[in-house]
Amino acid sequence: MTVDPKRILERAEHYKPEISRFLREMIAIPSESGQEKEVCALIKREMEKVGFDRVEIDPMGNVLGFIGNGPRLIALDAHVDTVGVGDRSQWTSDPFLGDEDEETITGRGASDQEGGMASMVYAGKIIKELDLLPPDVTLMMAGTVQEEDCDGLCWLYIINEGKLRPEFVVSTEPTSCNVSRGQRGRMEIRVGTRGLSCHGSAPERGDNAIFKMGPILGELQTLHANLRTDPFLGKGSLTVSEIGHCSPSRCAVADGCWISVDRRLTWGETWEEALQQIRDLPSVKAAGAEVSMYNYDKQSYTGLVYPTECYFPAWVLEESHPVCETLVQSYERLFGQKPLVDKWTFSTNGVSIMGRLGIPCIGFGPGHEDQAHAPNEKTWKKELVQAAAMYAMIPAVYVEQTQG
Ligand SMILES: [Zn+2]
Repeated sequence: MTVDPKRILERAEHYKPEISRFLREMIAIPSESGQEKEVCALIKREMEKVGFDRVEIDPMGNVLGFIGNGPRLIALDAHVDTVGVGDRSQWTSDPFLGDEDEETITGRGASDQEGGMASMVYAGKIIKELDLLPPDVTLMMAGTVQEEDCDGLCWLYIINEGKLRPEFVVSTEPTSCNVSRGQRGRMEIRVGTRGLSCHGSAPERGDNAIFKMGPILGELQTLHANLRTDPFLGKGSLTVSEIGHCSPSRCAVADGCWISVDRRLTWGETWEEALQQIRDLPSVKAAGAEVSMYNYDKQSYTGLVYPTECYFPAWVLEESHPVCETLVQSYERLFGQKPLVDKWTFSTNGVSIMGRLGIPCIGFGPGHEDQAHAPNEKTWKKELVQAAAMYAMIPAVYVEQTQG
């Protein structure tokens, strides 16, 4: 087994048309969370076509493609669900056409993150062709479901129920072909107030739950400004994302009000602490408001329900960790320069892989973070090729690194 970076790059470039075609085929299949059946079937066929040794779809619906059969497991991850298209009138081309020019491909999922999947599958082909996989390694390429709805849930399932525990996972979410070694965590919090309804013509008889929420909203805004900062991950944050109420009529005093809080957790912030900060607000105490964490229990496209709390912890991989060094070195050998090593602003499956389960996770992906969930989402063919070369290179470099 010899690792020849020039040859890997040449092969990746050679497959550019195939990678582009495969990405456009995925884009053509709408695949919002919970509706990934068809796109998973397409990915399975493509993995089989390019020569993966074994491809399965697990009970949750994740596509798992394997190369090699050594005792050391290394994994690459691409979530295959996308968000919806949003306001269709803001798109200048069909979001499911995969509009293509010399340099880019446009469509829902191009950057976030079916592009990563396309590069992964062709990295598998290059690994087979150039015999790049060390004999003691099994490489698993996972096409995972429901990430947009509940990041990390798929990997909780793969690791806890599928009993597959890789030495590390490369997330192929978009990084503009930089290296990402962490992200802030997040959680979804509900705050509810209760009151007493009565006829709206005599409000003094009742107790208005919406008025009780007023001071809570103000104090949450102040709390946001005072949240902790971490030098690498940045500041914790919160925003109110939803509000609802309960009232017998438009001519009544409201007897219930609730809000959802999107809380981003920086390094060192725990879910207990984040809940307690809100419970300690004077307005929350005065209103006797209930503060709780949401649960996620939507079924996957196979019908499986795997309930979990809506808690997604922050994670950071040290720059000196062998997995980070593996990516830096792979990049240097392929492209002759150092990569930018940074972090993600958004959330990824790393929240469970490393945040909850402590398995090293790192990111390298084609496409740009600012394209995610935006109209006219696009990706760059050059980056698809670079990512395929990186993924083909990583297992061999990692084994070199860890064998000293
Ligand atoms: Zn994503």
